[in-house]
Amino acid sequence: MKIHLTSEKCQGHGRCYSLASDLFDSDDLGNAVVLVTGELNADQLERATVAANNCPEYAIEIGA
Ligand code: SF4
Repeated sequence: MKIHLTSEKCQGHGRCYSLASDLFDSDDLGNAVVLVTGELNADQLERATVAANNCPEYAIEIGA
């Protein structure tokens, strides 16, 4: 499973990089950047899912 970010939906609320700073960072405008683009391990998957569930814009999806 991998992180899929739809950048067009991101409004820069920052929840993802606050919750999982090893998986997400922010660009100069505060919008999300994915740090781990490959397969997630179990721990990363758990935290990526929390981040996805807390994104108010539904910009993060976890999938194949
Ligand atoms: S939580 Fe969602 S809207 Fe907020 S910075 Fe992350 S991806 Fe963007």
